Order: sequence, then structure tokens, then C-alpha cells
Amino acid sequence: MDSPASGNGTARAARLEVSGLGHRFAAVQALVQVSFAAEAGRITCLLGPSGCGKTTLLRLVAGLERVQQGRIRIGEETVADPGGQVPPERRGVGLVFQDHALFPHLSVLDNVLFGLSRRAERLDRAMQTLKRVRMARHAHAFPHVLSGGEQQRVALARALAPGPDVLLLDEPFSSLDSRLRDEVRDEILQVLKAADCTTLIVTHDSEEAMFMADRIVLMQSGTVVQSGTPHELYCAPATPFVADFFSHINRFDGVVAQGGVETPLGQVAAGGLAEGSAVEVAVRPEGVRIIGEAGGDGVPVVVRDARLLGRSSLLQLACTGPGGTVELQVRTPGVVTPCPGTRLSVRLDPAQTFVFPASG
Ligand code: ATP
Repeated sequence: MDSPASGNGTARAARLEVSGLGHRFAAVQALVQVSFAAEAGRITCLLGPSGCGKTTLLRLVAGLERVQQGRIRIGEETVADPGGQVPPERRGVGLVFQDHALFPHLSVLDNVLFGLSRRAERLDRAMQTLKRVRMARHAHAFPHVLSGGEQQRVALARALAPGPDVLLLDEPFSSLDSRLRDEVRDEILQVLKAADCTTLIVTHDSEEAMFMADRIVLMQSGTVVQSGTPHELYCAPATPFVADFFSHINRFDGVVAQGGVETPLGQVAAGGLAEGSAVEVAVRPEGVRIIGEAGGDGVPVVVRDARLLGRSSLLQLACTGPGGTVELQVRTPGVVTPCPGTRLSVRLDPAQTFVFPASG
């Protein structure tokens, strides 16, 4: 196998393509027929719950695990298949770990110099990269005096300095507290967008993926369930799992009749599903709109509880119809905290309502 690696400081984004990857650890089937492409120069997020196989996939791409089944290509080259693999250091891949993994006994500058091989250009290149992440003035500091966010920027500089074709980040913000995380995430996004490399970020945080990614690959139990732009996954989820991964959903069972499905909140379009088939209707908490006090032309509900979350309020509502009482979770912008027992009128937003064939 030829190596696409550069390691010479010249970034040249390359498409990453993963086809039919399967991976087993003893009794655990960690990956099953995983295929996706990360487009050259774009940011792709591997998203999914704990244990779905994200890190295993990242380690396979990095060359830290041997491919058992399937193939990994970077640019025009196959870098791993069951027949052989290009060693990690010759793949043109940079890695940033969750815990930064800086060498504690080396200065910031020496940490970044570590991955650079061409002696003459090393210092210039390392300093340039530290400038890109706004850490040049800390070049001679040691990692332990830096904040978590600063350490993460150094780790990014160390990975970017050799000019990788593909940059892999494993939960890069999870060790930072939430306020710092937003700040560091924003800064790192700007650096990644300016760097000419293909980026694959592992995260279990759907909001983080929406914020960072050009494309999201959503995984469940070792398989890819949907990949697409953040907009596609949020606005056109392929399964209830996908809808649920981005926010809690209210679920109703129903049956298609005359192209629609009757729910406690009124009729919704069945989206072409077969007449008479059993379906599951999913409504996001933002998809139940409060239109005023009871008595309007919406569906009557009763407030069970209301909590102010800051930018939005979260309401628990009860809706009683011919089929009994259902509980709803509703999120609404601003300060909306009616007392328990208040009667309101609500309406469904079709853009936040999805109909799926019933599972099982
Ligand atoms: P997390 O978000 O919690 O890190 P993940 O999505 O990255 O999870 P993986 O770490 O890839 O998931 O693990 C996938 C499955 O493979 C899990 O069931 C895990 O327990 C198992 N697994 C991972 N590494 C090993 C290993 N070295 N030996 C045995 N089982 C493993």
C-alpha cells in the first residue's frame, strides 16, 4: 500500500472514505458494515450514544486498530483493509484526544515541535501554528500552568503543525466545563475552518455536532443510522431514534386513515405511509405551540408544571381526549411559567412533527 502521508507541513485536504467496516472485540461486535465519507476540507461529526462504536471507528481510521473487515481510503489511497495497513505515522492523520495528552515535561513549543520531522523548517512551522491557535506567547510555558482550554489549543497546534490530510478529534471538549467549552469550541471551529484539512470529530453531544459539523454521521449500536447535514438530520430524521437524539420527543401511536393520522393534538399528514398501517408520531417539545388561553381554536390542555430554563421555558401539559389523557413536554421561548392547573390552547407545528412506521 502506498502512503498518502505528508508530514512535511503541507496540508492538502483529502477525502476520507470508510466502506463496510466491521469490528469485533471478543464477544462484542463494536461495528457492523459502517460506511460513510468525510469530504475533503469539511468538518464531519461522528455522533452517537456511549458505546455505539465512535472511538473504535476513529482508532481504525488513525491506524491504532487493525481493520478486520472493510476498507479505509484517504484521498486516492487505501490505507487499511484486512490485507494490510499503512502505519499510523505515515497516514497523514493528526489526532487530538479528549484529555489533550500533552507531554508534561515538554514546553508548549517542544510539544508542537515533537511531531515535525524536517529540522530546518521546524521552528518556523511550530511558531506559525501556535500563532494560529493564539498560543505563541505561551511557547515556553509548561502544560501544567495552562488552562484546560489553552491546553486543548496546544494539542490542536501539535496535531495541525505537520499539515495532516485528515484531523481526528476524540471528544475534544468533554473535559472542559460548560462555559469554557462554548468559548473553546468557537475558537477551535474558526481554526479548523481556516485549516485546509478534512476533520472528523467524535462527540456524543448533539448540540456540539450541530454547531461544529458540515455533515453528521449518527451511529447507533455499531451502525450508521443516518448521515447528512445538521439541517437534514434535525428536520428530516430517518427514524424515531434520530429524532429523539436531538431532543426529547413526545410520541403517539396511530393508524393511517385517508392520508392522515389522528393524534391527541389533532390530525397530521401521514407522509405517504400506507393506508391502515400502524405508525408512530413524534413531536418535538418546540413543535407544540401555545396559542393562548383555553377556548381558542387550538387543542385544550392543562398545565401540570412549568420551569424557567433561561432562554426558554419547559412546560408539562396534560391533554385529555377520547383516548384518555396524555402528558406532553413543551418548550417555548422566553419566560412562560403559568401556574399548575392553568388551561391553555395549543397547536401542532407540522415542521416539528414526524411520522414513522411503527417499530415492531
Ligand atoms: P464512548 O462515547 O462511551 O466512548 P463509543 O461510542 O466511543 O463510546 P467505543 O469505545 O468505540 O464506543 O466502544 C464500542 C463497543 O466496543 C463498546 O461496547 C465497548 O465496550 C467495546 N470496546 C471498545 N474497546 C474495546 C476493547 N479494547 N476491548 C473490548 N471491548 C471494547
